[in-house]
Order: sequence, then C-alpha cells, then structure tokens
Amino acid sequence: GSTLEIKNLHVEIEGNKILKGVNLTINGGEFHAVMGPNGTGKSTLASAIMGHPSFVITEGSVLLDGEEVLDMEVDERAKAGLFLGMQYPSEISGVTTSDFLRSSINARREEGDEISLMKFIKEMDEVLDFLEIDKNMAQRYLNEGFSGGEKKRNEILQLMLLKPEIAILDEIDSGLDIDALKVVSKGINRLRDEQFGCLIITHYQRLLNYITPDKVHVMMQGRIVKSGGPELAKRLEAEGYDWIKQELGIED
Ligand code: ADP
Ligand code: MG
Ligand code: MG
Repeated sequence: GSTLEIKNLHVEIEGNKILKGVNLTINGGEFHAVMGPNGTGKSTLASAIMGHPSFVITEGSVLLDGEEVLDMEVDERAKAGLFLGMQYPSEISGVTTSDFLRSSINARREEGDEISLMKFIKEMDEVLDFLEIDKNMAQRYLNEGFSGGEKKRNEILQLMLLKPEIAILDEIDSGLDIDALKVVSKGINRLRDEQFGCLIITHYQRLLNYITPDKVHVMMQGRIVKSGGPELAKRLEAEGYDWIKQELGIED
C-alpha cells in the first residue's frame, strides 16, 4: 500500500486564499471521509492534489510514498497511482468510454506491457455487470449526454478498472438516487483491502451509511478543524455543523 501525506497545504484561486494549512495522511487500507459545508474548500483540496492549473499552491506539500506529488506532471500523478473521481466529470466528445478507459489503463503501464484488447474487454464487461451499467454505455462518448447517475457510475467504473493506490472521490454521491448510491458504494467497498487508500469527500452523511470510513474529518474555512471516527459523521447528520462552529468560535 501507499501513503499520501498532505502537509500544511495552502491553495489560492485567483488571489483568494482557499486552503489555509491542510494536514491529512491516508495510508493504504484506510478509508477517510472529508465532510464540510459548501464552499469550504473540499473540491479545492481534490483539484489541487491532482494538479488542476487554476489552483495555485503557495505553501505545503503532498507526498506519495515520500515523493513530491506537486512536482509531478498531471499524467505522472495518475501513473504514480493517484485517482480523482470528480464532482463534475467532464464530457469528452469523440472518445468512447471504452477507448478512454483502455488508454487510461495503458497510461499507467510500461510501454510494451499494454493490456490486450481481449483482456481489457473481459475485465470491463465484468465491472459493467457488477455496477449494473448497460454495456452500450462503453461505446458512447465519455460522459456525453450521460445522466448525473451515469456519470458517477462511470467514475466508479474507471476507479475499478484503473485500480489506483489512492483514490480521492469528490461528492461521488451527489445527485444519486438510492439505487445508484448503493451500486456506487458497492463498487467502492469492493476495492477495500490492505493496499487501497481512499479519501471520500462528501457533503452528506448518507453515503457513509454504505461505506464505513475509518476516520472522518471536518473541513471548515480551508482547514481540517475536527477529526474522529464514523460517529462524528452521524453527529453531523443529526446536528449539522453549527455545534462545531460554536465549539471553535468560528463565525460565518
Ligand atoms: P467545496 O467543495 O467545499 O464546496 P470548493 O473547493 O468548491 O468548496 O470552493 C471553495 C471556495 O473556492 C469557494 O469560495 C469557491 O467559490 C471558490 N472557488 C472554487 N473554484 C473556484 C474557481 N475556479 N475560481 C474562483 N473561485 C473558486
Ligand atoms: Mg460544493
Ligand atoms: Mg465541492
């Protein structure tokens, strides 16, 4: 398993300070949840780690097994074993889901060691079945015209085929009905082993009824202000975030 260490991460967008010193370590085999009100920087954390160009890192570091992720090109981050499931997956016209998946898998492999087409199709079909995704979807252009639920299932399809060391899933539950939520959770849970580390970003506790995190962190105003076990998520569901603001003397 790998270890992702986020150390004192400060991030700005267009001159606005969004993250103000985030510290978080995810070891292989661990599931962490980051929760928090809207606009506190959860997606910024995910995008900054994956190298989105709008996000300027002014301080701190992100280490994957001791290697500085922030010095890597975006494709190198994926190759090193990081995966980002996006809150708003983008559409890619002209590239089928199947072709996109195969080239993503091959991008993580050495030249000359590409997955064979037959093996790829077999693996993809298995996962499509498991996620109850219509096989035709693989031949459609990536995310083009997909419903919100289809896009999220597609992110999990990518996740299951790519088998990253560490995944960051940003609001993978948003906009899902209960059946889709169960399927998405089933996919994530299937990856649970001693190697795989996962950071689940969510606004709602609902997803955590299906995926039990080892640790829950609350982000507010660009910092992680509280950490605990699964019971912390339950309390947030019941009581919202106000009690934490009061406890910490945070004002809106
Ligand atoms: P969360 O995911 O917790 O809802 P975000 O990370 O999306 O929060 O946003 C944190 C803050 O950064 C918000 O105030 C938001 O308006 C701002 N922000 C996010 N993306 C951009 C952007 N591309 N340009 C300018 N401001 C942004
Ligand atoms: Mg948001
Ligand atoms: Mg967000």
